[in-house]
Amino acid sequence: MKTPLLDILKTRPLIGDGAMGTQLMFAGLEQGGCGEAWNLTHPEQVLAIQRRYAEAGSDCLITNTFGGSRIMLNRHGHAGDVTAVNRAAVEITREAFSGRDGYVLGDMGPFGGLMEPYGEFTEAQVREAFGEQAKALVDAGADAVIIETMTSLEELQLAIEACQAAGAACIIGSMAYDVTLDGSTFRTMMGIDPERAATFMQDQGAHIVALNCGTGMEMERARDAVVRYRAVTDLPVMVQPNAGVPKLVNMRVIYDETPDHMGGGVVALVQAGANIIGACCGSTPDHIREFRRLLDAHLAAAPAGARA
Ligand SMILES: [Zn+2]
Repeated sequence: MKTPLLDILKTRPLIGDGAMGTQLMFAGLEQGGCGEAWNLTHPEQVLAIQRRYAEAGSDCLITNTFGGSRIMLNRHGHAGDVTAVNRAAVEITREAFSGRDGYVLGDMGPFGGLMEPYGEFTEAQVREAFGEQAKALVDAGADAVIIETMTSLEELQLAIEACQAAGAACIIGSMAYDVTLDGSTFRTMMGIDPERAATFMQDQGAHIVALNCGTGMEMERARDAVVRYRAVTDLPVMVQPNAGVPKLVNMRVIYDETPDHMGGGVVALVQAGANIIGACCGSTPDHIREFRRLLDAHLAAAPAGARA
């Protein structure tokens, strides 16, 4: 019997995974195509990507279901495939561990619109869409559900409640922060700072507080976010910074932070109290391999009692 995720985090930090979207593009997904549908139409390609992360040393793999809610899938004509897409994603991700213990984190991204009165979607529609996806992920056996790239507490709350209704054993809330224009701090697009987000998530019953993506949130800023989370909550913290800032080179989007450069921030993240360290847009299995190497070296060098 595998140790539950929340229990293993009390004993050691874990390594997450890297980007899925860019890897799908490398595998041939066209710009604007439905990457989540590939769980059904191209399962071998999705499995190959997940395997590369597992082999690079990921302890936790995130399912290819970021846009796997009914509202998102509907844009590609796949609204009827919510359960099948999410189930297949969990099964593919589990298979990628090839029998070794690893944690499948079922991914839920934003529903991709605005709720009334600012947008066209009712709260009931969003609640239903999150509920359907969360149930599919939990029923398929995901070890946790990660609600990613959140900017609004209202949307986050609906997603957390959906996970609770689905019976998720572990709920991870992950915010996307942007560095402010003057560079002095960071907050979400909707103006939420990390202290408010972490306190809110804890009050709502989330089990892990996290951050991913965002603008200008490289390793050092992610470390600042961990420190600010740690000041207001004892919940485990997960971080997934981007591999730098996207640049357009020869009509291709390039991320400029190499595995070596990002790796330079790994130990500082652990020392600040991060419990799961992965990476977001632009990162690759090479980034994760370097994170794994540096974390293992750090843990081997530090006496157990001195581990952050
Ligand atoms: Zn990202």
